[in-house]
Amino acid sequence: MKTLILGGTLDASRLAKAVSETQLDAMFSYAGRVDTPREQPIPTRIGGFGGVAGLVDFILRERIRAVIDATHPFAAQMSRNAIAACAQTNTPLLALERPPWREQPDDNWINVADITKAVDALPETPAHIFLGIGRQHLSSFYRKPQHHYLLRIVDQPGGPLDFPNYEIVVDRGPFEFEKDRNLLAEKRIQYVVAKNAGGEGAFAKIQAARDLKLQVIMIGRPALPKRNVVADPKDVLNWLAHSTSAK
Ligand code: NAP
Repeated sequence: MKTLILGGTLDASRLAKAVSETQLDAMFSYAGRVDTPREQPIPTRIGGFGGVAGLVDFILRERIRAVIDATHPFAAQMSRNAIAACAQTNTPLLALERPPWREQPDDNWINVADITKAVDALPETPAHIFLGIGRQHLSSFYRKPQHHYLLRIVDQPGGPLDFPNYEIVVDRGPFEFEKDRNLLAEKRIQYVVAKNAGGEGAFAKIQAARDLKLQVIMIGRPALPKRNVVADPKDVLNWLAHSTSAK
């Protein structure tokens, strides 16, 4: 009887470390999006489950007693699948998710609902744009080819991208304010495009944009069905202790 941790965030890694220091039996799961995923101190599997049906099978086969959804707030498909599979198998589910960042008086945000709206929000006149949104949706920005794009991604792409003007920084979080400030200033960035991830791992670019008085195009989180959410790995451990003793 073990706990399944759906990972892909800094908090998921923190949770895995915390769990490894207890007697709990747990398994970590990665989608397999990056070439070299961060190593975890608990047994790890990589790759999709095969939709809701695949996750249901996995839960039953591996005798999973609880699922912790510690995926990124924008990994909505995985979160929806977890809700459905846990409901079908009557498995307790808890999401570990930081609250979204909130705009401060000295921020200059344009709040948008999704990637398409983020592209719409970019100006028509050429500008220097920082895309800190991962690599999945970069092609959405091809329809505004007039800009110079600075892309920060975890892995070097397999081939050239279809932007006339772009530069890649290969790096992975957590990021630091000073470094991000220097990067944005040195590259003469005018707009930062960000997903509202919350937490501190990706916050440096938001702080840096605030400091440099840059516009941030902030993409809001996708909506999810109602579920139990905590913000701190410690609360997950408490919840697990209770859900175990309740069994
Ligand atoms: P997604 O659209 O919600 O998921 C697409 C499919 O990928 C899921 O249906 C599932 O495949 C598989 N998958 C996702 N997370 C998985 C996990 N932890 N373990 C096993 N399979 C998983 O997710 P995404 O936006 O592609 O993100 C993929 C992963 O990258 C997530 O784990 C997430 O935490 C991490 N990540 C995402 C973002 C982002 O902005 N989206 C940012 C940072 C990190 P099956 O249907 O076959 O099970």
